[in-house]
Amino acid sequence: MLDHSNARPRTALVAGGAGFLGSHLCDVLIAEGKRVVCLDNLQTGRMTNIEPLHNHPGFSFRRHDICEPVAVEGTIDEVYNLACAASPPQYQADPVHTMLTCVSGTLNLLELAHRNGARFFQASTSEVYGDPDEHPQRESYRGNVNCTGPRACYDEGKRAAEALCFDFKRTRGLDIRVGRIFNTYGPRIKSDDGRIISNLIVQARSNAPLTIYGDGSQTRSFCYVDDLIKGIIRLTRVAQEPPSAVNLGNPSEYTVLEVAGHVLQMTGSKSPIRYLPLPQDDPRKRRPDISLAKSLLDWAPEIELEVGLERTIDAFAVETRSTLVG
Ligand code: NAD
Repeated sequence: MLDHSNARPRTALVAGGAGFLGSHLCDVLIAEGKRVVCLDNLQTGRMTNIEPLHNHPGFSFRRHDICEPVAVEGTIDEVYNLACAASPPQYQADPVHTMLTCVSGTLNLLELAHRNGARFFQASTSEVYGDPDEHPQRESYRGNVNCTGPRACYDEGKRAAEALCFDFKRTRGLDIRVGRIFNTYGPRIKSDDGRIISNLIVQARSNAPLTIYGDGSQTRSFCYVDDLIKGIIRLTRVAQEPPSAVNLGNPSEYTVLEVAGHVLQMTGSKSPIRYLPLPQDDPRKRRPDISLAKSLLDWAPEIELEVGLERTIDAFAVETRSTLVG
């Protein structure tokens, strides 16, 4: 059941709002009639993602790094923390900043939410499960993370951020909602940010070899962005505070090679496949158990991979055309 006392907050703050997921969240919140304050340091985000909102009276943007304390005028009712580079090459480019974003940045936003009596959503990740021994992954699984490897700045950073959220709940009574997001894709994902779907689409569209790490038998579960944003909002608004973090993702599982096959077929590409060694600590399997989200939020993804891929491929084509025209 949704909490209608909090269903129409006056103002939502979206940290990381110029990024892939954050900008879609801003769109939905503005369409609902909220005021939205978007904070972003533009490390991986783009102003073009929020361009359609710039002239909207309810929308404001501030360039700000959440590692610095955050103060905002007026009362905030919901704080969404999506600020953090999400693709491995990007979060590994400055690993210390990634860790600080997760820890100091989350702390700053928790303090802000506490001062405002706001509800707090934390974008956590399936990466907290590391290279999982349990499959599919339930929220009760504690993970298999290498705390000294190149992914640790993100995986351990996000684990520490979850710990901070639950400490604020225990010690200060803050109403926190932690969503463990599994691979999500869709329009506005950056063509050069090194994630599987964007890599495959860009390579296929230019008939360049499709890069597959390992033998391509590793599996992932891909959620289309619209489904995920609905899940984030439901988790933030549901009246009953969930007892734990909640998995948000699509449980349909594909090998990376299968996804590459779909992309080749849908783009009509002639690209060959180029196999490269698996990166260190790359998970072999990834699939969420979403029973908790289904029962607590009455939520499950609805958009099939083929449909989501088609929309994403179309969006890449439009982006390329407007870049060429611009
Ligand atoms: P993204 O890189 O497109 O967006 C992240 C945004 O945060 C960017 O706009 C970036 O500029 C901003 N940012 C980074 N560090 C910041 C800082 N210190 N201060 C202010 N802004 C900062 O990535 P995304 O895919 O939109 O991911 C959004 C959130 O969801 C991230 O927290 C990520 O960890 C989480 N997540 C995403 C996925 C996915 O598949 N997309 C999966 C799991 C978790």
